[in-house]
Amino acid sequence: MPRATDARLWVLALSLATPFAQAQEAATAAAAPAAAPRSVVVVQAGRVLAEPGKAPRGATTIVIHDGRIAALLDGRQVGPAGARVIDLGDRFVLPGLIDSHVHLDSDAGGQAALIEGVTSSPGLDALRAQWNGMKTLRAGFTTVRNLGDANGATLALRDAVDNGWVMGPRIIDAGRSISVTSGHMDGTLSVAENLHPGITQDNLCNGADSCREAVRLQVRRGVDVIKIATTGGVNSRIGAGLGQQMFADEAKAVVETAHLHGKKVAVHAHGTDGINVALAAGADSIEHGTMPNEETLRLFKQGGAYYVPTLSTVNGYRERLAKDPNAYPPAVLEKVMWRLDITGKALERAVPAGVKIAFGTDAGVSKHGRNADEFELMVQHGMTSATAIAAATVNAAELLGLGKEVGALRPGMAADLIAVSGDPLKDVTVLKKVEFVMKGGQVVPLSD
Ligand SMILES: [Zn+2]
Repeated sequence: MPRATDARLWVLALSLATPFAQAQEAATAAAAPAAAPRSVVVVQAGRVLAEPGKAPRGATTIVIHDGRIAALLDGRQVGPAGARVIDLGDRFVLPGLIDSHVHLDSDAGGQAALIEGVTSSPGLDALRAQWNGMKTLRAGFTTVRNLGDANGATLALRDAVDNGWVMGPRIIDAGRSISVTSGHMDGTLSVAENLHPGITQDNLCNGADSCREAVRLQVRRGVDVIKIATTGGVNSRIGAGLGQQMFADEAKAVVETAHLHGKKVAVHAHGTDGINVALAAGADSIEHGTMPNEETLRLFKQGGAYYVPTLSTVNGYRERLAKDPNAYPPAVLEKVMWRLDITGKALERAVPAGVKIAFGTDAGVSKHGRNADEFELMVQHGMTSATAIAAATVNAAELLGLGKEVGALRPGMAADLIAVSGDPLKDVTVLKKVEFVMKGGQVVPLSD
């Protein structure tokens, strides 16, 4: 039985359900209290990191009403009659993790990705995205930002998850990524010219007006965020380098149009000139950001953009090459080798400069479900366990525009939480073995 003080807390928590409260509700509709929760779940844990960036709490009871956090109470408390009690023992609970850069619709890279592009179908892409989404969710990532898919598969998955038809992480989706013709997102690169008419090209823009239109075409499809490339990419099948590809007026047109429609802009950029053009245009995040200079760091601080390092890409490249030395065509392999050598150096400069960091892996290039490998790399390249965890929770939530919904455990927020054995603030690698996942108050089965 709860102690007397605890019982009073429960009475307080449940007072809205009393006939007295209901009578009051009828009497004063303007100040109507919320209806009694249909479901009450109580999670007990040994330690709880409710506010990443601050110290964790000790033993805590998390009260969840209808999928939302209602209260965090000190100690282990028994819930009210009828409440479902989940006892996580001495495990460490933290907010559901957020990956700000994934591609759920694909696993393939190099030559295999080219083959997949001409053999898959939108339907198969959607099912693959759901499968990868489950791997991601089971790894403790309850929210992702999907930065680019060709066929709208992840847009559909986003809606299917929201409707409760299938299980998956919460998805913020960019639809098709936008670049210039011959740029990183030009799907015709290295493909025979007679096949070009069958390849979607409405994501390519040239000149300010054309770039405004490209953004609006994605807005029309119902995207949440806009993704563009201002530089070449490692995986683009052309030896065009990794420098600037989009002009300043084009980048500015993209950002202004996206912001006009209330969408943030995530920018793929490796070369210094392309990063700086994007930041000067008002980009909200830089993805990869491989070659920053002093001006880059100044622009990050000035505009408040986030840096999303995507260090995990090196794992993907290494693993593919170990399996098959010919996994990449020569033009791509040269860039892969460069990326293996340089990745992490930009983060080592960004951290002491005070640049805001959001966690992002580029899963799809690296393996889905192994998103937490990124933590170890972030710590190897200048972050602490605590700041890396903040990057994957509160910071990423702010970048995704979900700061009031996820990324921390506060009353009113979605009950997205995970549990691990051990202390992730001391050893961030324990996040590779997530033992409990809840999304929106629903427990996620960790195996079929
Ligand atoms: Zn990517």
